[in-house]
Amino acid sequence: MHVLDQLATCLGHAHVKHEGDLSAWEKDWSGRYQGRAMAVVLPSTPEQVAEVLHICAAATISVVPQGGNTGMVGGGVPDGSGRQVVVSTRRLDRIRALDSANLTLTAEAGCILQTIQSHAQAHGLLFPLSLASQGSCTIGGNLATNAGGTQVLRYGNARELCLGLEVVTAGGKIWDGLGGLRKDNTGYDLRDLFVGSEGTLGIITAATLKLQPRPRSQLTAWAVLDSVRDAMALLEMSRQRLGPDLTSFELMSQQSISLLAIHNPIAHSLPPAGPWNVLVEACGTGDEMALGESLQGLFEQAMTQGIVRDVVLSTSLAQSLNLWHVREALPLAQSAAGPALRHDVSLPISAIDDFLSETNAALRAAFPSIHILCFGHLGDGNLHYNMQAPEGTDAHAYLAEHGDAIQDIVWSRVVHRGGSIAAEHGIGQKMVAPLQRYKSPVALELMHAIKKSLDPLFVLNPGRVLGNAHL
Ligand code: FAD
Repeated sequence: MHVLDQLATCLGHAHVKHEGDLSAWEKDWSGRYQGRAMAVVLPSTPEQVAEVLHICAAATISVVPQGGNTGMVGGGVPDGSGRQVVVSTRRLDRIRALDSANLTLTAEAGCILQTIQSHAQAHGLLFPLSLASQGSCTIGGNLATNAGGTQVLRYGNARELCLGLEVVTAGGKIWDGLGGLRKDNTGYDLRDLFVGSEGTLGIITAATLKLQPRPRSQLTAWAVLDSVRDAMALLEMSRQRLGPDLTSFELMSQQSISLLAIHNPIAHSLPPAGPWNVLVEACGTGDEMALGESLQGLFEQAMTQGIVRDVVLSTSLAQSLNLWHVREALPLAQSAAGPALRHDVSLPISAIDDFLSETNAALRAAFPSIHILCFGHLGDGNLHYNMQAPEGTDAHAYLAEHGDAIQDIVWSRVVHRGGSIAAEHGIGQKMVAPLQRYKSPVALELMHAIKKSLDPLFVLNPGRVLGNAHL
């Protein structure tokens, strides 16, 4: 029987799409990566996922797992061969359990992140993973990419928020590693192998997630500063004064906010931007008045010391959401502004100021009119450090001509300062070559050995993360 017929027998014809417009699955959200799928299949149980893998492996057809398709590095869309099957997790969308005594929630991989947040909230609890894409991305995709977002400073990456996984292996076996244990040292940590593996080692079908008590108070402040050094001083002061109540510390350059002003009307409701701008969020278990006093004290001290030029404190949830809306609109505003070279890097927080001064200087020396847009999660050392072509140039041609040299300036300095060239978005297709260049040979050898042992036929997302070096 033809492979499409076998898939249809397993899933039903309606859930095996191979005709008509498949672009929603074949093209990533940025439009940069577009392939051609042999079929898009939509299983609704782990058993069906396992059967799909059996069928595809037997026919030597590779599969590309896909959740919300919001990934930034082209990891979830098929290549152009027309020989790959996209396994969409959209129908694996049940919340299986919420255990409020154990503070855990078990959800299937295709659950939208926002649905999980809302479900936890309805039970008076918090699932703190928070990304601008949360209305579309799935928990399976979040775990497969080890997503970060705006609250890593307090709660950690997706990895730290996951206690257990259910995974279908490349060989079509279901590993039930679900469970709400906070301590389990029974050998190698398989969960940690699959988290961040970007669909190259197994397909995550469900996860047990760690919940938190819901904070009783939440306040946001927008501060205007003159320099990154001041932002770092404010971060240190915030940690000291707010302790664990500090949940987010986001940095935005004036240039990135100006871009927002051109492309997004929301920018007109902003406080006046300075050279650098910081969004600080604090969440507490005490009442709002106490938290407000702590924040007020923090900014009085910062202004007295000349660290902060101006500050706006939110006085309502609506105002706080508005400030966040500005921060969250930045990636989309930047996409609307045309082609850019994006770098998702992380550094030790103590190295960020020196990194930015020296890299900005090196870029401007080599490419005098280049636009540098910088924003990111300063509180956890993650910068989105992006470049656009000078005005009046053909942006595509400019970036094609100078892209390699620009990236080399950035990544070599990141590595020199002990940083990572892929902080939260992962490797996918986009970062395969830089990974080969900047990761240590021993680390790459170990990664190849893991891939070979878990997916010896290279069925799962080939060409991603490690590339096709094995072929
Ligand atoms: P997809 O894009 O569908 O897939 C991503 C990767 O995971 C692919 O390699 C895919 O094969 C694999 N995959 C998906 N589901 C599974 C599964 N069930 N099992 C195995 N592998 C799977 N990311 C951040 O980390 N922090 C941010 O702050 C952030 N902000 C964003 C803002 C915007 C506006 C946008 C568009 C994206 C942002 N992202 C951010 C990137 C993206 O949302 C995350 O990478 C997200 O985790 C991807 O989830 P997804 O369900 O869309 O996965």
